[in-house]
Amino acid sequence: MSVITVSNLHKFYGPLHAVRGISFAVEEGEVFGLLGPNGAGKTTTVETIIGLLRRDRGEVRVLGFDPEKDSLAVKSRIGVQLQTVHLFPRLTVFETLLLFSSFYRECRPIGELLALVGLTEKAHTRVEKLSGGQLKRLSVALAFVGNGAVIFLDEPTSGLDPQSRRGLWDTIRRLQGEGKTIFLTTHYLDEAERLCDRVAIIDHGVIIALGKPGDLIASHFREKAIEIPFDGDVLPFASLPGVTRFRKDENTVTIYTEDLPETFVALNQLAESKDIPLEGVVVREATLEDVFLKLTGRRVRE
Ligand code: ATP
Repeated sequence: MSVITVSNLHKFYGPLHAVRGISFAVEEGEVFGLLGPNGAGKTTTVETIIGLLRRDRGEVRVLGFDPEKDSLAVKSRIGVQLQTVHLFPRLTVFETLLLFSSFYRECRPIGELLALVGLTEKAHTRVEKLSGGQLKRLSVALAFVGNGAVIFLDEPTSGLDPQSRRGLWDTIRRLQGEGKTIFLTTHYLDEAERLCDRVAIIDHGVIIALGKPGDLIASHFREKAIEIPFDGDVLPFASLPGVTRFRKDENTVTIYTEDLPETFVALNQLAESKDIPLEGVVVREATLEDVFLKLTGRRVRE
């Protein structure tokens, strides 16, 4: 069953056409990721779906309700973490959760919320004394307070250290295990690849790819990627046997090959003849980042 449906959604800010006719559906119990670079239209899409912004065209339904016409019905059934959060600086973490709990009929126990986001030890710390990462984790906990069926998380892991990031991934999986539907935005494509059942990649307000991460990668790349730390002429690498495409970043050449053994042998010969050191060479599967690069010619965080 689809819990979120978006059809031909458009949003303008004055002359800026920020979201340009996107459509997708999110199924019950899935972790769905909306991915894209800064300014792609992710937050605008989320805020339109949850009814914080009015759409200019198109249809949106959340659990069967129109967020503009049935705002209360939607808001009482969802949990939301937004990128910017304004909390009371002098309340403690515990008091903040208690305050937000008072807004809902059904709530998760505060002790459980604290444990979910790893803030148990900070329960009695004032909000003004939290680090950026701790504040982010508190804002994520607020999305879980009302025990909503659909949880919206806008860039939940940006600004978190790697350990907290992984902790949050575990939390998201745990909530999914409880049957929740999670809609998240991120510009960490590695995160989306691990966490999301399906993703929509958005760029300049348009969805350019939609599907399971593995399927998207497989449909765009049969190749493996070889990353070579090198800052010179890329052409000798590009013309190695098996190579289908290549990319040059600052100090790295990436070649994609359909025949890894053949390319590798030739790469070794080339390195020997041109005295190119091969330490630091990495062979990897293609990733969502490669898909984005192929579709747009840019990296997500360029
Ligand atoms: P980020 O990853 O940086 O949060 P995003 O993908 O969430 O980016 P949006 O915040 O939805 O992108 O912004 C989409 C476009 O709309 C951008 O060009 C942005 O500058 C513009 N925009 C967003 N909010 C407003 C606003 N209130 N008024 C005018 N333009 C806006």
